[in-house]
Amino acid sequence: MSINVGVHVPIAGGLLEAVTRAKRLSCTTMQIFSRSPRGGAAPAISPELAGRFDAQRRASGIEPLAVHGPYIINLASPESAMWKRSVALYREEYARAAVLGAQYLVTHVGSHRGQGEARGLSRVAEAVSRTLEGTAPTTMILLENTAGSGQGLGYTFEQLAAIREAVPAKAHVGICLDTAHLFAAGYPIHTEEGLEQTLTAFDRAVGLAHLRLIHLNDSKVPFNSRVDRHWHIGEGHIGREPFRRIVTHPRLRAIPFILETPKTTEREDRRNLATVRRLARGGDGSRGRGLARASRMT
Ligand SMILES: [Zn+2]
Ligand SMILES: [Zn+2]
Repeated sequence: MSINVGVHVPIAGGLLEAVTRAKRLSCTTMQIFSRSPRGGAAPAISPELAGRFDAQRRASGIEPLAVHGPYIINLASPESAMWKRSVALYREEYARAAVLGAQYLVTHVGSHRGQGEARGLSRVAEAVSRTLEGTAPTTMILLENTAGSGQGLGYTFEQLAAIREAVPAKAHVGICLDTAHLFAAGYPIHTEEGLEQTLTAFDRAVGLAHLRLIHLNDSKVPFNSRVDRHWHIGEGHIGREPFRRIVTHPRLRAIPFILETPKTTEREDRRNLATVRRLARGGDGSRGRGLARASRMT
């Protein structure tokens, strides 16, 4: 069975090189940052560059494109100045994603910083509403679930649903589920029964129709540990068999999968992609030695 799978591609070599790299890895979907995720000024995207990027991506059969928002914003911030800065940056990022022709802007829900979860959630909904306000959205905002560490929001389906429901333009708001975050937050996706329960719970709270993207990551930390540490597919605490069930599940197999597993070079991506493709074909995905420690994405 063929699935739509790709990786998060670095843009250090430029946007066009990112597409070339994704194509070299036989990705049929991809995710990028449009800027450094930890801050600094964003490089300008000329209409000419955006056009070439879009044409090259489409010609390479890569669909959809997801842009992952920067880590430095906190759409749930209780501090007015920080919240306003975050919303301004987020609106800018949304415009960049749209210029790049991205179908999705993956969004971290943020941290409530002691104001309580309900208030934090409504601030996120307000930020998302303002971002979609007055536009004819071509890019959908995807709220990503979290591992539930610290004061971070978005670790339950109910929280994601609460944000989505509070946005007037909610038709343009979907969900991205990260398997490592689900597992760390206590959703038992590593057992056959647990995966079914998790999907049923998601369907009840949010609706499976709103699930648009899956971040496919194994977890370096145990179940329910509330820590976000991605690991190579099949080599972490989730393990190979659960990933086979996920990528072949009748309710999930049409969803695009993006790997955010650690890497220093393309080699690690190549191996993780090969594992996922073997699992999707019904193989056991086993392979040789494990992969070395490498760069980290959350
Ligand atoms: Zn993720
Ligand atoms: Zn993560």
